Amino acid sequence: MSHDTTHALHLETVAVHAGHAPDPTTGAVAEPLHLSTTFLRAPDGTYPSGYVYSRDRTPNRSALETALAALDGGADAAAFSSGQAAVAAVLQSLAPGDHVICPNAVYYGTKKLLAQVFAPWGLEYSIVDTTDLEAVRAAIRPRTTLVWVETPSNPTLAITDIAGCAAIAHAAGARLAVDNTWATALGQRSLALGADLVMYSTTKYYGGHSDTLSGALVTARADDLWERIRLVQSSVGSVAAPFDCWLVHRGIASLPCRLRQHTHNAEMVAAFLDSHARVEATHYPGLPAHPGHDVAARQMQLFGGMVSFQVQGSAADALAVAGRLRIFTQATSLGGVESLVEHRKSVEGPESPTPDNLLRLSVGLEHATDLVEDLRQALG
Ligand SMILES: *Cc1c(COP(=O)(O)O)cnc(C)c1O
Repeated sequence: MSHDTTHALHLETVAVHAGHAPDPTTGAVAEPLHLSTTFLRAPDGTYPSGYVYSRDRTPNRSALETALAALDGGADAAAFSSGQAAVAAVLQSLAPGDHVICPNAVYYGTKKLLAQVFAPWGLEYSIVDTTDLEAVRAAIRPRTTLVWVETPSNPTLAITDIAGCAAIAHAAGARLAVDNTWATALGQRSLALGADLVMYSTTKYYGGHSDTLSGALVTARADDLWERIRLVQSSVGSVAAPFDCWLVHRGIASLPCRLRQHTHNAEMVAAFLDSHARVEATHYPGLPAHPGHDVAARQMQLFGGMVSFQVQGSAADALAVAGRLRIFTQATSLGGVESLVEHRKSVEGPESPTPDNLLRLSVGLEHATDLVEDLRQALG
């Protein structure tokens, strides 16, 4: 299916069909997996298939990139070997001396990349409360080329106004990139809200089954920055392998269905936690009392499947609750069919601003009542 056909269609249809077509040589309806690293060159020296070598392009990666771009209404997409590789490709496409604005509420790996890999390389950055647009505006410098936001944020579900940040970035001649891992293209239309780039850890909801490590970028325009990102992708070689592309592409077909159910279950779980005497705070943008609720209600189609909460007491009290859960598996990561619980602070380290008593839930596709009852018995 071409982009032009898919644009008019609903996202459920795009998710099933974008980048898919029956295989012309075998008639296979399901996507074949192509492991070849190298592709036939014709006697006249041309490459009739358009593929040359697998670091540049592969059939499974091209198919996935077509689907990713279509799902966000972007001009193009690039698939990487991890979410972190996708973040790094954006930062590597900037120049030493450029200035980046990064949220204080952000995936800890993004801060780590800036502090430990890109600051030594000469990138300047400021850590800013991006939920406050005045703070974003005040952090702009003459060499600010990129405003990075993540909304909802990992792990505290802070909400940043995407359209507001796009206006500030563009007025300063900078670009806005959104880490949309937690909402996905079904929950939040980042490019339509004014973002120039959207980033995903496809390890999470896109793959959806906790069995692929991969990442992606989608661009609003095939501009000069995108050309540099493509150059970094193929020359650095941080590309997603064929089977990972195949898994994520398959995952995309059911993403609209899955995200609706994840969201329904998370809404039930959040409402329960919010009413529980042993819970000090529940962080979920769908709750009316959440400080970002109004912005989230305006810019999100679905509030998503991630919920964090603070257990009354210490880190030990929170860990004890996590240890008593039977259906939630205690493990890191998120976005799979199975519910997970994680004590985030002990993963992020002592420098992390995450509260000691916070547990992060990736609410899976089990029945919501079973999940609520599991939390009830664990909270005691
Ligand atoms: C997991 C995650 C990442 C990093 O992705 P990897 O695939 O683990 O490299 C980045 N941002 C967010 C919001 C994440 O949850």
